[in-house]
Amino acid sequence: MSCKSPEVCQLNPPKTGPHSPGIGASAPVEKRFAFRPALGSIGSGLRFAGSVLVDLCLPRSCAGCQRIGAHSHSSWCLECWKKIPWAISPLCPRCGRPFTDSPDSPDHLCGECIEPTFHFDTARSAVLHEGIIRTRIHQFKFGAQMEWAPPLVELMEIAYAGWGLPAPDLIVPVPLHPKRLKERGFNQSGLLAGEFARRIKAPVSFDILVRKNQTRPQTRLSRRERLENVKGTFEIPDARRVRGRRILLVDDVFTTGTTLNECAAILKRKGRASEVHAITVTRALPG
Ligand SMILES: [Zn+2]
Ligand SMILES: [Zn+2]
Repeated sequence: MSCKSPEVCQLNPPKTGPHSPGIGASAPVEKRFAFRPALGSIGSGLRFAGSVLVDLCLPRSCAGCQRIGAHSHSSWCLECWKKIPWAISPLCPRCGRPFTDSPDSPDHLCGECIEPTFHFDTARSAVLHEGIIRTRIHQFKFGAQMEWAPPLVELMEIAYAGWGLPAPDLIVPVPLHPKRLKERGFNQSGLLAGEFARRIKAPVSFDILVRKNQTRPQTRLSRRERLENVKGTFEIPDARRVRGRRILLVDDVFTTGTTLNECAAILKRKGRASEVHAITVTRALPG
């Protein structure tokens, strides 16, 4: 059987090119059973597995325009690919904020990073939080449309390839509180992190970082409120698993960076991680 999906097919994986994610073996998982809490329920896991199977068996449709068989090496057709709003230079080399209003300027530190406020060493987002990609993130996160996870991770993988970050020792998703996990049925960051780790062949852990307090949704909060909202939210049950390691945090959207910052703070202070970096699918710029 010929496989139409290079993302899940392990036969003849493409090796180079802008649409060619690293494909192949599963990522080593620190504790295999730890994937279950990330999924939240067997139902969610089955739906995710189902979407992968559908992807294997049917001609792929474009993740943007949904035309069937639009491209054989990517989840996106060429037309949609050309419209992807990449979060590229000029940007802040530390937090990855793109300067879309001054496209001819060189890379330079943003206002947040001139006097460092972030605990993570660096961060990058693949694309701007707008248009069809914003829609797909919402459908994935709030509508449990699992089929959008691989196309979103594909964007993250392209951004990672251009970043030049040394290989991480461990991929860690931003955790959900168990109550929120039960309501939603899955942790969107966990699913993205698992798929991302599989593609870049890095170990992933879903239980190194846990959320001990349930916070209000950050969406409508000011920056100051966001900082207060996430303070003391995260915990590391076993700091020995973090010490001296280069951690790459994964989340869906970077808005003010407060959640990622709080995760990085505890990974460094309590866990004594040697480095903490962060990658997200999208970057929401302040309006
Ligand atoms: Zn398309
Ligand atoms: Zn910055």
